[in-house]
Amino acid sequence: KELTDLNALADEYLRLSYHGLRAKDKSFQADFKAELDPQLPKLEVMPQDMGRLLLNLINNAFYAVNEKRKKLLDSGDTSYKPMVKVKTQSLGNAIEIAVMDNGEGIPESVKSKIFQPFFTTKPTGQGTGLGLSLSYDIVMGHSGELKLNSEEGKGTEFIVILPM
Ligand code: ADP
Ligand code: MG
Repeated sequence: KELTDLNALADEYLRLSYHGLRAKDKSFQADFKAELDPQLPKLEVMPQDMGRLLLNLINNAFYAVNEKRKKLLDSGDTSYKPMVKVKTQSLGNAIEIAVMDNGEGIPESVKSKIFQPFFTTKPTGQGTGLGLSLSYDIVMGHSGELKLNSEEGKGTEFIVILPM
């Protein structure tokens, strides 16, 4: 474990994910924003694990907004603004990292399955279904909590809580 600046990591992985997806798919388009708590304390964590966790959540968020964008464009709707936001916050005895998107959302019937290994709703080759199961293990390995808020059609928020 290493004393880690999670603000810097969040910012870095937001950019990394965005540029990675753009490089793979020129039609990919989304806005992103980091809302970082300047008072966020550094935390003793495994930096590679935290990076992988952030990348999983952020990649999923970008995928969800881009899918929604493509569907809406196909139906002639050009008003949708795809947006992914990462927000950090100090909670006193813990810190919170939220990854939010205004994408497709997760249907109620699917929510209970998404943390299972190999569960994916993505076409073959686009998803392994391992991202969230790994993310869950990483958060548990840091004695944290991983919460999900999602509404179909509106968007999704994954909240990571890490104790200090
Ligand atoms: P993968 O991304 O390879 O499909 P994950 O474990 O990362 O695997 O995610 C599992 C499933 O959870 C996805 O296929 C998708 O159905 C759903 N999901 C995860 N994140 C989001 C999100 N931000 N918005 C909508 N659906 C999501
Ligand atoms: Mg994934």
